[in-house]
Amino acid sequence: MKIKTSRRDMLLTSLKGAASLAIGAVLAPLVSCQKSVTKDDFAGAQAKKDVPTTCPEQPLSDQDRSVRAALKYVDSSPNPQRNCENCKVYKLPPAGASCGGCQIIPGQIHPQGYCVSWIARL
Ligand code: SF4
Repeated sequence: MKIKTSRRDMLLTSLKGAASLAIGAVLAPLVSCQKSVTKDDFAGAQAKKDVPTTCPEQPLSDQDRSVRAALKYVDSSPNPQRNCENCKVYKLPPAGASCGGCQIIPGQIHPQGYCVSWIARL
């Protein structure tokens, strides 16, 4: 049985291969640049003695308040081993602010806070 392969088919196959390699070359550095955040990354980010015990009042929608309540968020963790600062999804506060954010819960999040979605930072 004879397989017919036109020059056009061969050229298209070559172009597809080259395009795949080019995309891989572009994406590889982006993937390799991803770095997991460690506890050391957070060291010094917060001068704990300067952090107030609660976050400032903030305007939140009823839905945002519901999410915070449903996940039982509190500004002060009942467990010193588990707080937002050592949670995997905590977002550092902006420069000059004491409260950060969370990838799950809307609104300002206290570094010593806690909710039932806490995930250990590795
Ligand atoms: S998931 Fe909960 S414990 Fe983790 S940062 Fe958000 S509010 Fe804090």
